[in-house]
Amino acid sequence: MQRDLADMGFSTIAVHGGVGLDPSTGAIGPPIATSVNFAAEYGSIGFSAEATVGQDVPFAYAREGHPNAAQLEHKLVLLDGAEAAVVFATGIAAISGLMLQVLSPGDHALVSDISYAGTAEFTRGLLRRLGIEVSVADMSDLDDVRGALRPNTRLIYAETPCNPVLKLVDIQALADVAHRHGAELCIDGTFATPAVTQPLHLGADYVVYSLTKYMGGHGDALGGAVLGRAEPMDRLRREVGVHLGGTLSAFNCWLILRGLETLPIRMAAYARGATQVAQFLQDHPRVVSVRYPGLPSHPQYALAQRQMNSPSGMIAFTVTDHERFGRGLKNQLQVFYFAASLGLSRSLILEARTADLQHTTFKLDEAHLRRYREWAGDGFFRLSIGLEDPEDLCSDLDRALSVL
Ligand SMILES: *Cc1c(COP(=O)(O)O)cnc(C)c1O
Repeated sequence: MQRDLADMGFSTIAVHGGVGLDPSTGAIGPPIATSVNFAAEYGSIGFSAEATVGQDVPFAYAREGHPNAAQLEHKLVLLDGAEAAVVFATGIAAISGLMLQVLSPGDHALVSDISYAGTAEFTRGLLRRLGIEVSVADMSDLDDVRGALRPNTRLIYAETPCNPVLKLVDIQALADVAHRHGAELCIDGTFATPAVTQPLHLGADYVVYSLTKYMGGHGDALGGAVLGRAEPMDRLRREVGVHLGGTLSAFNCWLILRGLETLPIRMAAYARGATQVAQFLQDHPRVVSVRYPGLPSHPQYALAQRQMNSPSGMIAFTVTDHERFGRGLKNQLQVFYFAASLGLSRSLILEARTADLQHTTFKLDEAHLRRYREWAGDGFFRLSIGLEDPEDLCSDLDRALSVL
């Protein structure tokens, strides 16, 4: 039993969206339904998912959809103002699934020169092997984007803020470029979440999330989602969801549903803590540069102010001696963990060396490598600010910086 949330605010939707009273027990929190099989009237389901999905039968076999996935998809739809959503086992399953759905051999995908490593590696590897043309552009520079369009460009794909260097793209302007060309725009909103930016409202055709990060928010569940218009989402579910089979488990749906209840207050807390840490770093004599969308020193601060409700919790920074600072992290950290991933209660730090990333992941041409170096130098450290006291985070970093 769903409540009518029309005209309600974002926080109310985060709490109540997609879930309501369980009619069989009166439970006001959603039960976990782990059943793989769902009984139906004789004749209403067949051997093929085609015969059942999206028809009168709500659920038939859990790979094709199940109650907790439907609740999560509904909450996501309300949070982003989308028509429909499909959840996947991981963020990368959502991203690769959407690309495999939208692109055919002979099509061209224009992807961001900098992105999440898995996305960069997938687009430069498997996607090309399948006969899909892939090239890169600096999505923050519309001239670079326009110059890279081809007659067969079908999809433009970008992140904002981008992982790992916190560069932004102007979603509205990029959507305009894509649509004038007859292409579609997909935005990976993992670093922002709908609490910060709602790409579909700004003209994007699709938004994808790694639910593993801020959306779930506790570092205890992998998950991913694609949101967009009803018809393409229906196709995505039927072809990619059902046949590639990257279904999100009932338990992970439940964990992420619970995490989303606190998304607005968590995003506000991350931004508060990260602003304090970014300011501390900027004022530190051993720190060379700080990239944080909440600081006026961010080269796209005006865009951040326009496009983001808050600056989120990710920071990239460079120091006077990268190697030495790296060694200092071994012994000095009391609060931060040296670990991959982001968007949980615990603060994490990760190192990115430009030569390594270029070799394994980005594979940029000279011109784009130069742009990357201008932004990120030879290497930087990325912080995911957690929910600890910002003073403790600053002391932790101060101790590590004292080796310089
Ligand atoms: C982590 C991440 C992904 C991949 O998500 P997984 O859930 O780890 O598969 C995609 N995009 C961005 C921006 C990410 O940070």
